[in-house]
Amino acid sequence: MHRDLEEILISTPRLNAGIKKLGRRISSDYAGRSVTLVGVLKGCVLFMADLVRHISVETRLDFMMLSSYCGTQSTGVVRTVLDLKENIEGRDVLVVEDIVDSGLTMSYMLRNLKTRRPKSLEICTLLDKPSCRKANVSIKYTGFTIPNKFVVGYGLDYNEIYRNLPYIGVLKKEVIEGTKLCR
Ligand code: 5GP
Repeated sequence: MHRDLEEILISTPRLNAGIKKLGRRISSDYAGRSVTLVGVLKGCVLFMADLVRHISVETRLDFMMLSSYCGTQSTGVVRTVLDLKENIEGRDVLVVEDIVDSGLTMSYMLRNLKTRRPKSLEICTLLDKPSCRKANVSIKYTGFTIPNKFVVGYGLDYNEIYRNLPYIGVLKKEVIEGTKLCR
């Protein structure tokens, strides 16, 4: 375990098993259709790369980058830093996110994508932290529901580090200065 962590919340084998299950569900729900996965950068990268390998239907990949966080605290403002390359009008779109916390990012994302008139629009998140929800978002696919702890690893960062850890861990308190968990 990395020395900055107080615990491993989700081990690599548990992540692999959970993602495989999500891939199977998605493949069955979208059978006979083509799905456009829209990854939310940068946190989605490891999750999306593994998830897509378990999806058997025709799949397109696209990405958006939004900015809302600084360290562990939300700035409260979500803006688009990088937009989709493809036109999603009439497509079955599945947003792939690392974690839904307050739900503000996802709610912004859904409002934004809906204006482009996709045929369907659903959310797949690796982690759900429902205790801090501020916006009501309906999540179709959830890998793991977690408690109100600041987690890193498997794509999730703290000030841009720890994304490469192959598991999800909880940072030690002393590593996080001035953390406010419920934003
Ligand atoms: P929301 O808008 O739902 O509050 O937050 C979504 C974004 O906040 C995520 O995409 C992620 O970047 C960041 N975030 C929320 N909770 C955590 C956490 O526990 N750890 C990390 N590393 N990022 C988080």
